[in-house]
Amino acid sequence: MKPVLTFFFDALKPGSLQYMPFLNSFAHQRRMTTELGYSVTCHPSMYSGVHPDKHLQWFVWRYAPETSPFQWTKPFRYLGFLDTLPTRYFLHKYTRQFRRKNTSWFGVPLLVNLPLKYWSSFDVVEDRSWDTPGYLKQYPTVFDILREQKTDFEVVGMVKGAGDEFAQIEGHEFREIKPWTYFFLGSVDSYSHHHGQDAPETIELMKRLDRLVEEQFEAYSRRVKDFDVFVFSDHGHIRVEKRIDIQKIFKEQGSNINRFLHLIEANYARFWFRNDRERATVEKILGTIEGGFILGDAEFEKYHLKMPDNRYGDLVYYLDTPAIFTKTIWGFGKTQKSMHGYLPEHAESDGVFLSQTPLIEASHVELVDVLPTILSSLELPVPAYVDGRSLWAEGKPARYMEDDELMEQRLG
Ligand SMILES: [Zn+2]
Repeated sequence: MKPVLTFFFDALKPGSLQYMPFLNSFAHQRRMTTELGYSVTCHPSMYSGVHPDKHLQWFVWRYAPETSPFQWTKPFRYLGFLDTLPTRYFLHKYTRQFRRKNTSWFGVPLLVNLPLKYWSSFDVVEDRSWDTPGYLKQYPTVFDILREQKTDFEVVGMVKGAGDEFAQIEGHEFREIKPWTYFFLGSVDSYSHHHGQDAPETIELMKRLDRLVEEQFEAYSRRVKDFDVFVFSDHGHIRVEKRIDIQKIFKEQGSNINRFLHLIEANYARFWFRNDRERATVEKILGTIEGGFILGDAEFEKYHLKMPDNRYGDLVYYLDTPAIFTKTIWGFGKTQKSMHGYLPEHAESDGVFLSQTPLIEASHVELVDVLPTILSSLELPVPAYVDGRSLWAEGKPARYMEDDELMEQRLG
C-alpha cells in the first residue's frame, strides 16, 4: 500500500495553473467537472463518491419547519414592525447560542434578506464538519470508511477559525506519516469572490500557496520514497457582469416577493407554494427575467439532482452567468466580483485534477471520482453503490464491494 498525499484547493481554475509553477509541473492534468450547486453540493460528492440525488445535499438551507432552529421566532411573525435588519442580526445571534453543537463549515448562517416570518420554515442541511463521523446520514464519507478500515489519515487546514492556510499549513510538520494526508486550502475561493480569480491580489495569493504546497511536498518526499500525490479543486469561478434586484422585479410586476415563501441565493431563487395561484404568479414574473430558467425534470436528471420531496423548493429558478441576484439570504452581493454555482457545461465552471501517477484517458473527471481514487490507492475495496471511478491508469485492482458486504462491515 502506497501512502497518498492530497492537496485540495477550493475553486482553483485550470487557467490559473500558469501562475503556479509547482502545480503546473504535475505530469498528468485533467479538468474537473463540478456539480450544479455550491460547496455544500460539491463536498459531499467528493467525500462520498455519490451524486446529490443519493447524498441529498444540494443547498445550505432546506424546507424543514419541524426541525428549524428558528421555531422559537414564530410568535414574532405577526410583528412586522420588529422585522428590521438589526433585529434579524440580534435574533440570529441569540439562536446561535443554542446551535453551538453545529460544527459544519457554514454553521447556522444569518438569513439576511428574508422576512423573519419565514425563518421558522427552514433548517440547515449540515450539522457537523465533513470529517466528523456520520457527516452524511445515508452514505459513509471517505473519512468514515477509513476509520472503519482502521486506516489512519491526517487532515490539515480544514479547521474553521484556526487562521488561514499560512497559519495552519506553514507550521505543519510531518511526524508519523499516515496512509492518507489531506491538505485543505480554502482561500482561493474567498479571494476570487472578492477580487476575481484573474486579479493581481488573487494571483499573488496563488503564487504564495504554490510555494507553500511545494515546501510541504518536499518535506513529505524526504520521508516517503514511493507515494501517490494528487491535487484537485471542486469548481471554477466566473466574473459577475450583471446584477439583478429580484425584489424590484416583483414590485415592477405589481407583486411583492415577500408574499411568497422563498430563498434567494446568488444565482438561484427557490419557492414553496401554498396553492397553484401562487405558482402561476411566480412563474409569470420569473418569465420576465432575462438569462435564467426554471429547472425541470430534464435538468434534475442530467445533473443528478432528483430529490425525494420538495425540501429544496417546489420551484428552483436558475440564473445563468454572468449575472447574480442582489439582496440574497447571504447579503447584498456588492462585494461579489466573481461567482460559481453555474452550469457544469461552462468551461469556467471546471476545476482541476493533477497527478504525478498516470491517469485514465479522459479530458474531464468528476468530483465523485475522488473517493474511489483514494480508496484504490490505499488498496481498499470501493463500495458498489459509488457513482465515480478510480482515476489511476493501472496497477490498482480496486475490488468493488457489494452494498450488503459494506453494511455488514459497518455494523460489525
Ligand atoms: Zn465560493
